[in-house]
Amino acid sequence: MTYLRDALTARVGEFIQLRHDIHSHPELAFEEHRTSELVASKLEAWGYSVHRGLGGTGVVGTLKRGNGQRSLGLRADMDALPIQEATGVAWASRKAGLMHACGHDGHTAMLLAAAQSLAQDTEFDGTLHLIFQPAEEGGGGAVRMMQDGLFELFPCDAVFAMHNMPGVPAGHFVFRDGAAMASSDYVTIQVHGTGGHGAMPHRAADPLVAAASIVMALQTVVSRNVDPLHTAVVTVGAMHAGKANNVIPALATLELSVRALDPAVRQLLEQRIKALVAAQAESYGVRAEVTWKPGYCVLVNAMDETNFARQVALNMVGPERVTLHGPALTGSEDFAFMLEKIPGSYLLIGNGDGDSAGACMVHNPGYDFNDDNIEVGARYWVNLTKAFFAH
Ligand SMILES: [Zn+2]
Ligand SMILES: [Zn+2]
Repeated sequence: MTYLRDALTARVGEFIQLRHDIHSHPELAFEEHRTSELVASKLEAWGYSVHRGLGGTGVVGTLKRGNGQRSLGLRADMDALPIQEATGVAWASRKAGLMHACGHDGHTAMLLAAAQSLAQDTEFDGTLHLIFQPAEEGGGGAVRMMQDGLFELFPCDAVFAMHNMPGVPAGHFVFRDGAAMASSDYVTIQVHGTGGHGAMPHRAADPLVAAASIVMALQTVVSRNVDPLHTAVVTVGAMHAGKANNVIPALATLELSVRALDPAVRQLLEQRIKALVAAQAESYGVRAEVTWKPGYCVLVNAMDETNFARQVALNMVGPERVTLHGPALTGSEDFAFMLEKIPGSYLLIGNGDGDSAGACMVHNPGYDFNDDNIEVGARYWVNLTKAFFAH
């Protein structure tokens, strides 16, 4: 154990450099060719058996030791975002309009550092699957890997994933039992009316006024239909209609983000939004079409696995650096689909708080992953793996 700790510490600079290298070469969903090749070749060099191209650019590295029957999956995400970087750091993105603004470069580097350390470890007994997934940012890379047979090819008794969290002290761990992140559905409402001259509204059926009314009516779904003790979000993020002041358009379009922390609430939102939109449209003499594109499901952490993951952190950093039961988040995460199939837990590691650089929120042009977390995050994965196989 002491040896491992020293070895990991001695090599942490290498993985910080690797993180910077990935950071300066960001790749969007399903285009993580350079990143996944880098991951695969490192894993191979350390003795992992490597499966490339699962779910497009996904990689699984497997390490089997002894005769143990237990198997463990650890997941990191690899994709970047279409954001123009404004950090000014030396390792800033070399691609215009693309950056690692969610710290997936750091997640990949932490899991690789753990992979290197575990490859030198002869103590554990079982099968370890390291899952490097593409396209977490809305592309559903987890689902694509599962469609390609992820858990049939690489059966796991439990799966875990870690995401950094700005606003929380660096190296601090946050856990939560049960529902932890929201489902996220993408809804488009097209309001079809009859266009006409702006001077003669009585000869038209105005979809713009109907759409405006729908926006206001939608505000009552969460406040009047959802149990106040539950969480739900209905955000109208885009509204498009018309081009000229004296023309009544024939079409108005609304785009919504609809989120919930409970599958039943998610269903209720769909039912109420569809009913309300239909009734509103009818009252204005127009026709509305609702296109419901289901996104990520509710992320539910399993009790036993979360308890186990929590205990690993408590043993490692002590209770003052562990939040035992943090708040749920209205963001979404496609690791939720893996947790639908395999029990496990999704945990957070603080990226920095207060005035520190790490406090800048993810998806912001000024965000950067905190390099101090590479060592603590990697050590956490190593400790969790060893504890899991010692069960
Ligand atoms: Zn993100
Ligand atoms: Zn992310």
